[in-house]
Amino acid sequence: GQERKRKKNGPDKLTFEEIGGQESAKQELREAMDFLNRHDEISKFGIRPIKGILLTGPPGTGKTLMAKAAAHYTNSVFVAASGSEFVEMYVGVGAGRIRELFREARTRAAKEKKENAIIFIDEIDVIGGKREGGQQREYDQTLNQLLTEMDGIYSTDTPRILLIAATNRKEMLDSALTRPGRFDRHIQVDLPDKKGRLHILEIHAKNKPIQEDANLDKIAEESYGFSGAQLESVMNEAAIYAMRQEEKMIAQKHLSMAIDKVMMGEKTDRESTL
Ligand code: ATP
Repeated sequence: GQERKRKKNGPDKLTFEEIGGQESAKQELREAMDFLNRHDEISKFGIRPIKGILLTGPPGTGKTLMAKAAAHYTNSVFVAASGSEFVEMYVGVGAGRIRELFREARTRAAKEKKENAIIFIDEIDVIGGKREGGQQREYDQTLNQLLTEMDGIYSTDTPRILLIAATNRKEMLDSALTRPGRFDRHIQVDLPDKKGRLHILEIHAKNKPIQEDANLDKIAEESYGFSGAQLESVMNEAAIYAMRQEEKMIAQKHLSMAIDKVMMGEKTDRESTL
């Protein structure tokens, strides 16, 4: 948990340029962020500010990167948590953590003199999933606390708070979370197409010595169905192969071997969970 938290809270300098593919998702998110950047006009028109954006899509497609880039684009403080951190072992603990998250956003914004704060909650389905058997949501303090905090966000307050949540399972979410005024903007983050895959490979090739005749286009072709996280892994594994073979640069053969390795790795992961 700590490790993951540190990773997610890491440097907030990430920009949309460092996210490969996802052109329409990036565009939609940027447009939503302009609501924050142009809040004066928004309020003049009497437009209801956006409080919550839901990013949906398969694991490793860059949802966390998108939230960070959104924070950078709006000069916001970025506070992140994962739904699994809020699982209530004792009644009230999860709710307390939600309160803490909002408090942290407000104090950090004040300290860093920023007008906006973005709170990112990954795996929102863990706290906001539909209950089976018609169990009453009234008793779910964690979710209720989140809804209460969201209802208590006012556009006139400083900092302006915006929530971004991510899930792989949008259909699992309780309707209390997705109704207007809550997470009412949904942006789909899909697996990258070939062009997107090439873009992602190029981004992760930047800090690596790649042989000039290496053909990333071919690698993009061969990595059909790979997520951004898997493509990052391909570049990393290729570098490891090249280093092990005492070569100075990453060659096509290293990239091909890396594709196989990442593909096999996925298979064994999946088998071991069966
Ligand atoms: P999860 O749902 O599992 O939390 P996610 O969608 O939030 O996944 P990220 O954590 O944003 O995925 O991505 C994991 C890593 O994969 C990133 O740190 C990055 O190295 C790489 N990555 C994923 N998508 C992209 C992308 N579109 N462009 C560049 N790198 C990417």
